[in-house]
Amino acid sequence: MRDESSDKMISSLIRDYYRRAVIDVDHVDKREFAYGTFESKIKVRHLSFGSIRELSRYLVDNAPPYLSYSSAYYEFPAGRPMEKKNWRGSELVFDLDATDMDIPCKKEHSKGWICKICLEAVKGEAIKLIEDFLIPDFGFSESEMIINFSGNRGYHIHINKEDVLGLDKNERKQISDYISGNGIDSEEIFPDSGKRGKRLIGPRPEEKGWPGKIAKNFVSKLNKGPEAMQALGMSKQMAEKLYKNRSLVEMGIRSGNWDMISIKNKSEFWKDVLKKEAVIQSDRIDGNVTNDTSHLIRLPNTIHGETGLIAKKVGSLSELHKFDPMKDAIAFEKGELRVCANAEHELEIKGEVFGPYRGEEVVLPVYAATYLYLKGLAHIINSTDIS
Ligand SMILES: [Zn+2]
Repeated sequence: MRDESSDKMISSLIRDYYRRAVIDVDHVDKREFAYGTFESKIKVRHLSFGSIRELSRYLVDNAPPYLSYSSAYYEFPAGRPMEKKNWRGSELVFDLDATDMDIPCKKEHSKGWICKICLEAVKGEAIKLIEDFLIPDFGFSESEMIINFSGNRGYHIHINKEDVLGLDKNERKQISDYISGNGIDSEEIFPDSGKRGKRLIGPRPEEKGWPGKIAKNFVSKLNKGPEAMQALGMSKQMAEKLYKNRSLVEMGIRSGNWDMISIKNKSEFWKDVLKKEAVIQSDRIDGNVTNDTSHLIRLPNTIHGETGLIAKKVGSLSELHKFDPMKDAIAFEKGELRVCANAEHELEIKGEVFGPYRGEEVVLPVYAATYLYLKGLAHIINSTDIS
């Protein structure tokens, strides 16, 4: 459904966006950049810019559908091969993507589609990463983080604190394993969970790391109600019983006595709980983003060429809680386009629902038309008379 004149029209929308966009990169002169075309997200790499001004001019002149930058700082960012760049350190980056998550709605829509539920789920994962791991366990503060919507179906969290820049691949892997729960053994947290008839001794909420996390989250779910505990994999009957006796159960847990939670298959149950409390990170074919010290990642506030949305920087954790990409990351605000659309799912964007469409001609706001076109679900009819 792609055609040259529509691509051209979108390029001019991208150019207009870059004329007013605020691009802000620390150590811009030490980063490697790469631009992508509609066909290839990383077409040319090893680019470098001496200043934000130079970068901004490049964006207006070239209107690239994708722009990535290195999480690494280099002495010579344009140097090639890679060794000639002289690596000086890398931000710690976490890549969260709805594609990697087990979300029930994914069975109801095609693989490339992303719905409201997908977006909420991956946002929840980003919040969990920050609130349950990065702040309490690693002691990072909000001011040391960049929270970025990826522009399509995920979030990137960057840590640029001095202390992390020099971490090597192995140290990064340990961090990423910790938050993914890899190598965390539930039988160490509940030493007797595999034994029949034994009292269940477990962690207390104030303990550090995973044990405290399991206890704290369990107490919070206990007080939320039976559904929250059923979501952990507990039977309805057990969940209701615990909820009824919640103050006693909580008192027990606070002293490390988990005996009231008599679940069948304890060992399996706690293993499962651990998995649910962990963060699901992207594991791409080209390697885990967190461990890769020369990874290229979407530059904050640039356009994502598969959606036309902004890979938008989210100002703070409290803003993340309220952030809705389909409202807050819209780049092409003005005008309408006539399209022929073939989209089997409803598109909810800027508070309005469009579609589904079965090949009919419709006039849509530019942001909705370009979203569908870039997803390959619409053909733009009057791409030349946009004002
Ligand atoms: Zn979905």
